Amino acid sequence: MLDFAEARSRMVDRQIAGRGVRDLNVLRAMGTVPREEFVADNVREYAYHDMPLSIGNGQTISQPYVVALMTELARLQPEDRVLDIGTGSGYAAAILAEIVARVFSIERLASLADLARERLAWLGYDNIEVRTGDGSLGWPEEAPFDAIIAAAGGFEVPGALKQQLVEGGRLVMPVGPQVRAQHLVRLVRRSGDNFDEEDFGGVWFVPLIGAQGWSKDERIGGRTRT
Ligand code: SAM
Repeated sequence: MLDFAEARSRMVDRQIAGRGVRDLNVLRAMGTVPREEFVADNVREYAYHDMPLSIGNGQTISQPYVVALMTELARLQPEDRVLDIGTGSGYAAAILAEIVARVFSIERLASLADLARERLAWLGYDNIEVRTGDGSLGWPEEAPFDAIIAAAGGFEVPGALKQQLVEGGRLVMPVGPQVRAQHLVRLVRRSGDNFDEEDFGGVWFVPLIGAQGWSKDERIGGRTRT
């Protein structure tokens, strides 16, 4: 029987700290959340491997390092309220919930959202709300947020999300003109419509499908926007 606690600790040392993640809250969260509980039984043994895993419906739980990197880039504080777009398995929401006060997590596929909600409740997370909906429009009723993290790639940062950040708020998401290849960007809202933008290199995420993301047809056709 695989010792998951040991595998998790090794994952943090080698894949996360070993690649330069320094935020102690992120390292602690990655060392706490049981990733094996967020994947199907037949892939549990790979839960701490350095890769994304399928969670059904054509979707994935992201590579642990990518979750840690995006979380660190969001520069989280304990009192923060955070919007997590693309709940998927709920793993990234759990990582966020270990660090901040409240997490609002939105997923377009109801079957994934329902399963994640059940799983997170079973694991005892009472500071995460999961909702089914189009995260490209954010979560206006709960806005503004101190940070927004999107785990699906858009051709641009949706305007709705930019408007749901507090001043000083951080948004981290994959962005690019091709459906399945993006750059990881961080926006910081300085004031009003004034944002700083930084690029953290190439990434490969499933598409953000929605009113301010890709359409279903574009996703299927592997289209490019210029
Ligand atoms: N954070 C997830 C986890 O920890 O398992 C992994 C997310 S997976 C890489 C991306 C997710 O984004 C998929 O579950 C997909 O259905 C979802 N998604 C795509 N477009 C979306 C949208 N407009 N609103 C909400 N979720 C969306």
